[in-house]
Amino acid sequence: MSKLDWLTQEIDGLKEQGLYNRIRTIGSAQGARLVVDGKDVLNFCSNNYLGLANHPKIVEAAKDATKKYGVGPAAVRSIAGTTDLHIDLEKRLAKFKGAEDVITFQSGFTANLGTIAALVGKEDVIFSDRLNHASIIDGCRLSGAKIIAYEHNDPAALEEAIKQAAGTYRRALIVTDGVFSMDGDIAPLPALYEVAKKFDILFMVDDAHGEGVLGKGGRGIVDHFGLHGKVDIEVGTMSKAFGVVGGMVAGDKVIVEWLRQRGRPFLFSSAVTAPDAAACLAAVDLLEESTELVDKLWDNAKYFKGEMKKLGFDTGVSETPITPVMLGEAPLAQQFSRELFENGVFAMAIGFPTVAKGKARIRVMISASHDRDDLGQGLEAFEKVGKKLAVI
Ligand SMILES: *Cc1c(COP(=O)(O)O)cnc(C)c1O
Repeated sequence: MSKLDWLTQEIDGLKEQGLYNRIRTIGSAQGARLVVDGKDVLNFCSNNYLGLANHPKIVEAAKDATKKYGVGPAAVRSIAGTTDLHIDLEKRLAKFKGAEDVITFQSGFTANLGTIAALVGKEDVIFSDRLNHASIIDGCRLSGAKIIAYEHNDPAALEEAIKQAAGTYRRALIVTDGVFSMDGDIAPLPALYEVAKKFDILFMVDDAHGEGVLGKGGRGIVDHFGLHGKVDIEVGTMSKAFGVVGGMVAGDKVIVEWLRQRGRPFLFSSAVTAPDAAACLAAVDLLEESTELVDKLWDNAKYFKGEMKKLGFDTGVSETPITPVMLGEAPLAQQFSRELFENGVFAMAIGFPTVAKGKARIRVMISASHDRDDLGQGLEAFEKVGKKLAVI
């Protein structure tokens, strides 16, 4: 017996249950097509909603910044890692989103960790949607606050939970995903806000999948619902629709000021690089110039979802370009994904613990980079594999 045997057993267990991640290797730039494990395939997997990850203007901005600033940040933001590009980006994002101020982090994940842990502590309570993203859950745990999970997207359940907890805490925070990444449904933000207002509780939304997707020209979920100045904290990411990398927190000036003092990933982990910041700035430029890409994304998503339903697939409750294809058991989802790949389509299976047991699926990510031929090829492959595996 070795002290590592348990790991081999755990890993074998994952393989038996069809839950072992077999990570594919990408050998090309992101786009409608990808070279995956050496094979040219249609890309249905990336969060590159607007096709910006390899946009010539963004690539050029990163190149120019590399020439001027080099590659490494060489410091955390609070010591020597804040360039004028980082400051410009925060100002431009605040203007774009109609928020008082913005602070950027290295990722959406660290934005959640840093923000939640800076705002609540041991004597406090967090009301958290039951299906919130892992980074919210980890941020909640890290804060040491008591975590009360309420039923998914249920403002009445939230209100009930708040009433039950009355008098047991110092401060409270309500936190929800904006767009739920596995199902593609949208949080009922106006109703949740009414509850937050009624009890005067801090209200936070993580809009990672709504940034660049929802709202006018991709201004996010707060803009989508016209809740400017009402949601205290709006977390977002530049790693998805923006096509680059990084997290952001938009909100009240004093919250952002506090995060610059106490957001631990901001203080203790190196800044995003200057080329990353320049690339994000170029993404904001493109989004401000035109809504063309956002419009194309939604047009593609509506078409694809409509056709998938006609074929007889269950695409769940999605209201966004995220298109889950519900399959049930994880081994079936994995087999489906392998067969799609053999038919030239890259779409990954998602199973437990990312989604509940028995709710395994293929998640198709539609992008503005797809054209109708791409979507047609995808639909053909889904039809063929769906029939072969008796799903439709
Ligand atoms: C993807 C995602 C994140 C993490 O964003 P990164 O920038 O990739 O770290 C956080 N929250 C939600 C809801 C997400 O979907």
